[in-house]
Amino acid sequence: MSKRDYYEILGVDKGASKQDIRKAYRQLARKYHPDVNKEEGAQDKFIEAKEAYEVLSDEQKKAQYDQFGHAGPQSQGFGGGAQDFGGFGDIFDMFFGGGGRSQDPNAPRQGADLQYTMTLDFEEAVFGKETEIKIPTEETCETCDGSGAKPGTKVDTCSHCNGSGQLNVEQNTPFGRVVNRRVCHHCQGKGKTIKEPCTTCGGDGKVNKRKSIKVSIPAGINEGQQIRVPGRGEAGENGGPPGDLYVVVRVLNHDYYERDGDNIYCELPLTYSQAALGDELEVPTLHGKVKLKIPAGTQTGRIFRLRGKGVPNVHGRGHGDQHIQVKVITPTKLSKRQKELLQEFDEIEGQDDSFFTRFKKAFKGE
Ligand SMILES: [Zn+2]
Ligand SMILES: [Zn+2]
Repeated sequence: MSKRDYYEILGVDKGASKQDIRKAYRQLARKYHPDVNKEEGAQDKFIEAKEAYEVLSDEQKKAQYDQFGHAGPQSQGFGGGAQDFGGFGDIFDMFFGGGGRSQDPNAPRQGADLQYTMTLDFEEAVFGKETEIKIPTEETCETCDGSGAKPGTKVDTCSHCNGSGQLNVEQNTPFGRVVNRRVCHHCQGKGKTIKEPCTTCGGDGKVNKRKSIKVSIPAGINEGQQIRVPGRGEAGENGGPPGDLYVVVRVLNHDYYERDGDNIYCELPLTYSQAALGDELEVPTLHGKVKLKIPAGTQTGRIFRLRGKGVPNVHGRGHGDQHIQVKVITPTKLSKRQKELLQEFDEIEGQDDSFFTRFKKAFKGE
């Protein structure tokens, strides 16, 4: 897939100033950020804009991009990263921007994303399932609605830092007087004080809970893939939205099936006579037993493909196939009668003039 030009994505021209670039990006982010836009394709547009902004807002990367185009920045390994946790960044960093999270303790902040690892049986991953998980999480305290103050009492602005959560501390150093900003120790950086803390949460405004969350595992999911459950992460602060929950999938191995993408692979052991004479068998698939005709003279290693008997595609694009590889098993224990028959067989075979017989004779030096 060809990548769109970064300038085109942001809708700015090459001479655009840093400010223009930032402005264009913020407009796009506001429109497409996954927290605000749940439409299909919005996330991709956001990722695209973010990548473009990351390159064009960095002088070095921008210069490289101007010179080499996409080949430059990509070979340096930046951009993308959409699947990383927290890869979308915090929308509040942009909207209440200029400073980022730490400066105003009263600004709404989104709760943290949570990650949960779920182990599935081979078949569960193939067919999907509805399940419920219990995760330990912090939730907004219902008694005080997150304020931390006992209902009926009020939250005061910290008089020491005037609500900023930070104090200027002057220090005399050998280089003169230096002013440092420190977290206000009277309010622990919260910018507010609570005279009578809520008895349910002890003034934190949050409570630890194990919450049950319904997760629907789509059929065809595979090892390492993740499911995003929006709004099921930790509670936000100061009225900010909750984070998201990411369920990362691990899939257990199967006794005799192997999976590669949507295709299933397995071995089919055949006896020498089945392979030589042919047979009609019922072979197991994930979707029940299927008749398989083994033609006479089947060689070991031959692969039969059962169309559509693989894994349903996780994006709904049909089914994979099942590939069955024949493995002719040489008998290790033979009865006296079986030995006699095989010896007799070998003698008859020696009388024909096939390539194989001549080959064998050459080996024996006949
Ligand atoms: Zn409370
Ligand atoms: Zn304070």
